[in-house]
Amino acid sequence: MATHSYVDECELCSGHLEIIENTRPPHTSEECYDCGWWETNEEGYEGSGFRDLNEINDLRMMDGMDELSHEDLVATRIRINGPVPLPPYDEYACVINRRPASRDP
Ligand SMILES: [Zn+2]
Repeated sequence: MATHSYVDECELCSGHLEIIENTRPPHTSEECYDCGWWETNEEGYEGSGFRDLNEINDLRMMDGMDELSHEDLVATRIRINGPVPLPPYDEYACVINRRPASRDP
């Protein structure tokens, strides 16, 4: 797979926009590391939307960038009139409640 990536300015928040161009098959994906906007025209995965804080921070860590805080993301989303993320605490509580009790056989 041949890919080429470069950084551009996000048209929504003016933040760090990673653009990944693939030649086989040809498609382009965009990931904003500040507001979480993503867009792709990859066959079978076409779409766009906003990533949540954990997904944004996974991407930022792979690029050696500092972690984005929940407050920063909320401030950016309010500025661009995007969806405001829920506090991370709610998400965490949800995961704990769903985890089944584990017992040794
Ligand atoms: Zn952005």
